[in-house]
Amino acid sequence: MTRIYDKVYFADAMTTLEHATLSVGSSAVLYGLSVYTVLPVCIAKEGASAFRLSDHYKRLINSARIIGIDTFESAWSERRFTEAVKAVVAANEIAEDVFVRATIHVVDMLPGTRSRGLKTVLSIFIYEATPILPPDGARLKTSVWRRIPDHAIPSRAKVNGAYVNSVLAKQDAIDSGYDDCILLDADGHVCELSAANIFIVRDNTLITPGFTSDLLEGITRQTVLEIAHDIGIQTSERNIDLTELYIADEVFACGTSAYITPVLEVDVRSVANRQVGPITARIRELYLNVLHGKETSYQRFVTPLL
Ligand code: PMP
Repeated sequence: MTRIYDKVYFADAMTTLEHATLSVGSSAVLYGLSVYTVLPVCIAKEGASAFRLSDHYKRLINSARIIGIDTFESAWSERRFTEAVKAVVAANEIAEDVFVRATIHVVDMLPGTRSRGLKTVLSIFIYEATPILPPDGARLKTSVWRRIPDHAIPSRAKVNGAYVNSVLAKQDAIDSGYDDCILLDADGHVCELSAANIFIVRDNTLITPGFTSDLLEGITRQTVLEIAHDIGIQTSERNIDLTELYIADEVFACGTSAYITPVLEVDVRSVANRQVGPITARIRELYLNVLHGKETSYQRFVTPLL
């Protein structure tokens, strides 16, 4: 089991995991009415540092805006949010890389199916940084489930209730003996994995589905695009057909908890002869260095926490 650290931020104070609880009558529990983000905190010689904290804060605020959760933003500046993350990391005295899960919960009791003007509570806890995909390479299956379209539950809002879609798709993949799924959008275009974005390489161009393909606007995805640009690899954000995965030179998944994971198989078809392709290997190495603050030209992404 993944280790969750005991000191938790909940409802404006530090407490313990056991005491950070929501009522069965709250909207968060009744309707999955919470929005969240998960961001990496890495340990280096200089101490702990958070990766793209500001972007995670912005995405969290945007998720709340999309859903209509309107009581959080005015009370929680980026500075206050950063201080709360710092407090949790400091209290737990970490000696390893961790993931920080920050969630805005709507805690009003039985307000009905609405979102505005309701009381919110922020929770922040940390857990050991265990990858959600096998680091050496993943086997994927096209899901029988489709990604929820923007006009039903928008994927760019990271809302807890919507993750039932990911659970259905991932469990279907596991039941069929795979590591994870490929979710297609309603038109049959490739969208993402259950909790990671996807890239393919064709003729030395790095291709990923665009923002309007019902996907989460992944912060790792953005980092990969920036790294590729900086090292002169051509990129394209466009629709990807499922059959392009079958003939791609390379495929990889990316996300905070997926890091950069090479994809070795899709629907019983080998990808890149089941090897880690050269562009995947290059991006992965650079990404891990950037994440750990080892690339001086990407220091803007790193926030020292201690
Ligand atoms: N898509 C989904 C559905 C996710 O849950 C995640 C993980 N947050 C991602 C993509 C990757 O996003 P990020 O790089 O910001 O972790």
